[in-house]
Amino acid sequence: MEWRELGDGVFFRRYQPWDVNVGVVIGAAGVLVIDTRANATEGAELRGHLRQLDTRPPRWIVNTHAHFDHVGGNGCFPEADVIAATDATVDLGDRSVRVRRLGRGHTGEDVVVLAPGVVFAGDLVEESGPPQYDELSYPAEWPATNRRLLDLIGEHDSVVPGHGAVVDRRFVAAQLAELQRAASDPRGSGG
Ligand SMILES: [Zn+2]
Repeated sequence: MEWRELGDGVFFRRYQPWDVNVGVVIGAAGVLVIDTRANATEGAELRGHLRQLDTRPPRWIVNTHAHFDHVGGNGCFPEADVIAATDATVDLGDRSVRVRRLGRGHTGEDVVVLAPGVVFAGDLVEESGPPQYDELSYPAEWPATNRRLLDLIGEHDSVVPGHGAVVDRRFVAAQLAELQRAASDPRGSGG
């Protein structure tokens, strides 16, 4: 997969292995990268690919959550600030990006990134498979978090899941029903 422009200066690229998505927002004041792949080798490859979009080294990194396949390449961007604060607004000069924590779900620390016309949802939304639960997940709280997410997604916004193809508001609404079923299953969510 190559870079795909989803909005003005807003890109994503789908990577193997892990079918993980990386986001990029390019502004006059710098380049912001959302997630950095799984390890230093993949991060270095990402760094090379970013030069296809902009020759400036990334100035900001946002990690949607702490799973290895989203943070493992961070060390390849030593000059970037990792945005750890939630409810941060990053001023890219001619556009801004909001980083919001909406509640617990896939992990206890998921953040979403709101760029012009595009919402990067991390693993709160999954396209390439069902929502993924592990020991870091909060199945009972996840539906409320995604309800808040839904409120932030415009009718025409693109939604980039943590893994898989770009979706939209309707897909997130449909997956919310799935999360609600899992939350009400006393045996837990499995998988
Ligand atoms: Zn994850």
